[in-house]
Amino acid sequence: MATTAAQAYKNFIGGEWVDAASGETFESTSPANGDAIGVFPRSGAEDVDRAVAVAKEAFAEWRLVPAPKRGEILFRIARVLEGEKAALTDLMTHEMGKVKAEAGGDVQEAIDITYYMAGEGRRLFGQTTPSELRDKWNMSIRQPIGVVGAITPWNFPVAIPSWKLIPALICGNTVVLKPASDTPALAQRFVELLAEAGIPDGVVNLVHGGGGTVGDRLVRHPDVRVITLTGSRETGVEVLKAAADTLTHVHLELGGKNAIIVLDDADLELAVEGIVWSAFGTSGQRCTAASRVIVQRGAYAELQKRLVERVEKLRLGPGWEDDSDVGPVINQRSLEKIHSYTEIGNGEGAKLLTGGEVASEGDLGKGFFYRPTVFADVDPQMRIAQEEIFGPTTALIPVADLDEAIRVSNGIKYGLSSSIFTQDVNAAFRAMRDLEAGITYINAGTIGAEVHLPFGGTKDTGNGHREAGQAALDVFTEWKSIYVDYSGRLQRAQIDTEE
Ligand code: NAP
Repeated sequence: MATTAAQAYKNFIGGEWVDAASGETFESTSPANGDAIGVFPRSGAEDVDRAVAVAKEAFAEWRLVPAPKRGEILFRIARVLEGEKAALTDLMTHEMGKVKAEAGGDVQEAIDITYYMAGEGRRLFGQTTPSELRDKWNMSIRQPIGVVGAITPWNFPVAIPSWKLIPALICGNTVVLKPASDTPALAQRFVELLAEAGIPDGVVNLVHGGGGTVGDRLVRHPDVRVITLTGSRETGVEVLKAAADTLTHVHLELGGKNAIIVLDDADLELAVEGIVWSAFGTSGQRCTAASRVIVQRGAYAELQKRLVERVEKLRLGPGWEDDSDVGPVINQRSLEKIHSYTEIGNGEGAKLLTGGEVASEGDLGKGFFYRPTVFADVDPQMRIAQEEIFGPTTALIPVADLDEAIRVSNGIKYGLSSSIFTQDVNAAFRAMRDLEAGITYINAGTIGAEVHLPFGGTKDTGNGHREAGQAALDVFTEWKSIYVDYSGRLQRAQIDTEE
């Protein structure tokens, strides 16, 4: 592991590592066995105010650094991240709990977005367009906005901070990061690496602490121009309300209740692979997790049989052990919430096919392990089919045909990811058109985003923005339209029209 037990960590403000003004701390522990990861500053409003002031000052210079030069620093960051991939992966298996292959994927997403955005330093394209008047030049350019407050969850503890910080930086903004209280060491290591790679002092700042204190102050601070939050719908609503008085731009990536549709003609073996990966990868704690599987009746019995066989072979264990398939969930609260949904499902009359209990044999009892859980005969209106459980639980919903499958898939408040397994090209194109979601996969599960495409959702999953791809630039820049009149006389648009 990259850290020593109970190592003391600090905030990063203006290029210096500092304690919280109050001197208070909190601890991060491993969800797999309770081991101490480190002790972190329990910061407050005063610490946020210092970080924002420093970031605001740094913005004055950073915005003027040519974007290709900012890109060169990002290329260095990408290479530093590559060099540290193994250590970050190992730390992630301990602090967040996901298994090694997935933790490596999390770090790889950070590397990928950094290379992608580094190249953007030589693009950041605006538009030039003809003027309606003679001897006049029209163009639009992207401009940085100012101080960005980034508030991140624990489930992608390196990837999500990178998806926010790296695009913000290439566009010329400065940042204050408030990471999740469950994964502060990973955020800290990420910021250390940015500093090592040459991000100037004050351009990236890190303030550890709680959502209701540090996060809330960041959102309400009048000098923070953009808040980018990935988290639950409930937090998104709170943040949006808190940002209203200052008219701060708010970018929200929120929850999901994603479904995989399996039609009668699907390759069932492939579908089972996709369901297992999407429902139980990261112990179901992905915003894109497949917590519903909508199955056409002709395939329903066979799919259940094959799925349960596969799920029961999954091995629970700490993420750092090579043969672990499913790691722990993040904390005791989460474990209890997940189990409460098993009880809700049982109470609603769904059929529990497998799982449905805390796994506590041997060393598993030291951590927060929940057995992969499959419910069958689920009605689309049941709470287990409507609410985000954020754990290793999925619900099989039988349907008659494609029309019903699409109706059921869309019949939720969220709209993040969606998927269909079919060999019928017409059905696939109907799904691409009609599924109400920001992402649709054909013959793949609901997870597996690539960084050069927009990522995000419709309906209650967000507020219309997207992360990653070119779309991310819209979160972190504002358009300026520029008109240059070189006629030497006052030409009035819409009025002085030439014959
Ligand atoms: P969360 O409880 O909403 O927390 C997210 C972040 O917001 C944390 O840093 C949290 O701080 C902070 N926070 C909490 N209350 C706040 C407030 N009033 N003001 C400002 N900040 C506040 O979510 P989570 O449990 O970490 O993550 C799971 C959720 O994220 C799920 O709903 C999942 O679907 C969603 N998610 C969405 C995406 C996506 O791209 N759409 C990706 C990943 C996850 P503390 O940690 O200190 O509480």
